[in-house]
Amino acid sequence: MSTTAPSTHKLSDTDLAALATRIKTWGRELGFQEVGITDTDLESHERYLERWLAAGHHGEMGFMAKHGTKRTRPEELVPGTLRVISVRMDYLPPEVETTKVLGKPDTAYVSRYALGRDYHKLIRKRLAHLAKRIEAEVGPIGYRAFVDSAPVMERALAQKAGLGWFGKNAMLIHPRAGSQFFLGELYTDLPLPTDAPFDTEHCGKCSACRTACPTDAIVDDKVIDSRRCISYLTIELDGAIPEQYREAMGNRVYGCDDCQLVCPFTRFTRVSQEDDFAPRHDLDRIALTRLFAWSEEEFLDKTAGSAIRRIGYVRWLRNLAVGLGNAPWSEAVEAALKARLAYPSDLVREHVRWALARQRDKRAQRIL
Ligand code: SF4
Repeated sequence: MSTTAPSTHKLSDTDLAALATRIKTWGRELGFQEVGITDTDLESHERYLERWLAAGHHGEMGFMAKHGTKRTRPEELVPGTLRVISVRMDYLPPEVETTKVLGKPDTAYVSRYALGRDYHKLIRKRLAHLAKRIEAEVGPIGYRAFVDSAPVMERALAQKAGLGWFGKNAMLIHPRAGSQFFLGELYTDLPLPTDAPFDTEHCGKCSACRTACPTDAIVDDKVIDSRRCISYLTIELDGAIPEQYREAMGNRVYGCDDCQLVCPFTRFTRVSQEDDFAPRHDLDRIALTRLFAWSEEEFLDKTAGSAIRRIGYVRWLRNLAVGLGNAPWSEAVEAALKARLAYPSDLVREHVRWALARQRDKRAQRIL
């Protein structure tokens, strides 16, 4: 995050309008596919967030409630903020399979945003470059860059900045780019002219995402009960994955893309040319047993600079154990699980035992 001194200059409306146009050009030059500008009024989203929290849909994500209205009132998070510059960066690497991998139960499915290097650093750096370009033009400004790491209503701000609408899966969707993109924000004290919000919702009668969700986590249009969501269960949840969701997780070991993959607008997804987002260590096609064999050292080494690393090795093994329990029976799968029966973590051992019981059932069914 970066902060500089508040703006001291006085720009005319004409100057600010010209600056807004240039900011969008610079944003595209820096690799953002779209840039929009909005004000800080998130009143309706604040009410939505309050209802969502009151229903307990955030599960163990206490940080969602922790910051009070700082999340919904940008000027409380960064005093002096008048505008938010919202940016979109597409992340899907070229030639990466999605549904085919989901159909191979002995192969790990890692959410496609997490296959490469961690996006936080890259986007924050580009946002800082954008701020510096603005400062080169108009002198010092007050700003702070965010990427999914502070109490920021990023999708709400992006919708208001004209970058897309909220789909029934609660993702932000662009009619010509789908939803497989990252968002970032530059809070600033420059009183730039704002863009029109994206008010037309194109979901219509479609409800493919709600039908496709493996754990019925989309409990109402645009409302996700995180406690049922595979992304939450595999990434945010600290303890045991509730048994009722384990089978439905299939081979999804880090995140889940199902509600996006079935969305008709996903066919408009644009592939990313960013080298950082290219898959590392065959994470887009690797066998569950190979990942389960990684030592902690290998895990730390291979996930260095990746979003996956933050879940830690124990949760990683927990998730993989569930995936292996759901895989077709094979001697290799059973052996891989048995090798972890004495792993020094109750959490891992419990998931391994669950997976082994499923594997033994499958073996017995083969004999019958
Ligand atoms: S799958 Fe259909 S309902 Fe769901 S977000 Fe996409 S268009 Fe909207």
